[in-house]
Amino acid sequence: MTMRLWKIFGGLKLAGHKTMSMEDATEATPLPKILTLPLKQHIGHAAEAIVNVGDKVLKGQMIAAAKDYVSTPIHASSSGTVIAIEERPVPHPSGKTTDCIVIETDGEDKWIERVENANYRQLDASALRNIIRDSGIVGLGGAGFPSFIKLNPGPGNMVDTLILNGAECEPYITCDAMLMQEHGRKIIDGLNIMRHALQVERCIIAVEDNKRAAHTMLVNALQEHEAEYIDVVQIPTLYPAGGEKQLIKTLTGKEVPSNGLPINIGIVCHNVATAAAVADAVLEGKPLISRYVTVTGEGIEHPRNLDVLIGTPLNEIIELCGKRSEANQYIIGGPMMGFEIADTNIPVIKTCNCILIQNKKTEAEFVMPCIRCGQCAAVCPAQLLPQQLYWYARAKNFDKTQDYNLFDCIECGCCTYVCPSHIPLVQYYRFAKTEIWAQEQEKKSSDIARQRHEFRQFRMERKKAENEERKRQKKELLKKVSGKKDSADDAKKAAIKEAMERVKAKREAQSAIAKNTDNLTEKQKKEIAEIEARRKKAKEEN
Ligand code: SF4
Ligand code: SF4
Repeated sequence: MTMRLWKIFGGLKLAGHKTMSMEDATEATPLPKILTLPLKQHIGHAAEAIVNVGDKVLKGQMIAAAKDYVSTPIHASSSGTVIAIEERPVPHPSGKTTDCIVIETDGEDKWIERVENANYRQLDASALRNIIRDSGIVGLGGAGFPSFIKLNPGPGNMVDTLILNGAECEPYITCDAMLMQEHGRKIIDGLNIMRHALQVERCIIAVEDNKRAAHTMLVNALQEHEAEYIDVVQIPTLYPAGGEKQLIKTLTGKEVPSNGLPINIGIVCHNVATAAAVADAVLEGKPLISRYVTVTGEGIEHPRNLDVLIGTPLNEIIELCGKRSEANQYIIGGPMMGFEIADTNIPVIKTCNCILIQNKKTEAEFVMPCIRCGQCAAVCPAQLLPQQLYWYARAKNFDKTQDYNLFDCIECGCCTYVCPSHIPLVQYYRFAKTEIWAQEQEKKSSDIARQRHEFRQFRMERKKAENEERKRQKKELLKKVSGKKDSADDAKKAAIKEAMERVKAKREAQSAIAKNTDNLTEKQKKEIAEIEARRKKAKEEN
């Protein structure tokens, strides 16, 4: 059945330059002496080293753990000894350095014990996502987003279509095409695992119509699988038909909303190489420790695809393919979306799909003022107004760039390619995005600092109020206690007074008794005198 396809806006028909690197079968590169594994090879937080210098590690052993939800672990690509954990240069347009684990290989290439899950259908979605996360799998199409997250649609999101992107529309790059030709069956295994995790009915594998061999291999592999729920679809060769939003539009006619994600319209999209990595991880217990890399361009004697261990020095694989003496430009990725590097003494990382080596033109292309020709807008696949974005980015009016949907720009470079004034438009958009992110980060940091300050103030005021309340309560208690004391004193005073009065009364009674003796008879007086005399005598005798 032929599937209906939709046309995307804009785009360019570019010379492919693909056949030069597709003549030979893909070969694995020799085991390097040193592997340099950056802790950050993906979008999100860097992983955290869980080994120390001097530790012996095995191939496939986790050496850095995911630090956050949007993060993935890193694994040793071969067995050996950790000889350093330090900052080293990594593939980045700025030539920046980042923390890396450096392994000296022992030549044994000895694997850790692997857990194979051939019966993955008995596992639930969460268990499959955990295997995929713990295997360090990220999007291998270039973006490097942790793949397990895309397999977790989250509550309230229904997925009806799973797309595998095998379009590989950028000139020169052929690693996905070679993978489809050589490992079509593995890609379909990976697709089936993802389908099981997402519980989705409809699956599409998209391949550009200039990759006939890859298409044939996938169709043959599908027949073996008897997977009638999967469509392998050839899409027109057009740059950037492989952009995620453009591919979704071509295959389904649906538009991903501005600033939205494919999941918002019930679609999940993965790269074909990511699917193969998922199959390796689940079925064979192999984490992501190698990938296909295209080494190509006019500056290379023997352009081809290589199966490279992550962490292998880039200059070793360039040497393997033979660099022409006049070659003077090194690009990671393709000519449209890749970035130039000055130094090849950097490692291959998970997102490194191509090394393009060219003879850069020496004559300078002078940048001229914008002539408002509108060619950039005519080719923009995101239907933006590149010249307006350029004005506002140049004027550092970043609010306005956002009003013109800067973040819908996929940095495809079509506008720059057609601009007759040679304005490096994409560079302005990247600059604007970086500035906006930095400002947001700064705002976030200052918001956090303000919240901390406000919380501290609140805590201090609360403490002060609590102290005052405590003091007030104490005072009240003291007052109550002293009130009771006063009444106790009064009672005591009254008792003393009473006692004194009793004593006084007794004395008066006694004196009254004394007075009564005056009225005694002579006889009584005599008897008393005798008693007194006897008492006196008895006292003396004693
Ligand atoms: S293509 Fe270049 S010159 Fe033409 S409108 Fe766009 S930015 Fe201006
Ligand atoms: S780089 Fe951005 S603005 Fe330029 S054509 Fe591509 S999507 Fe449009």
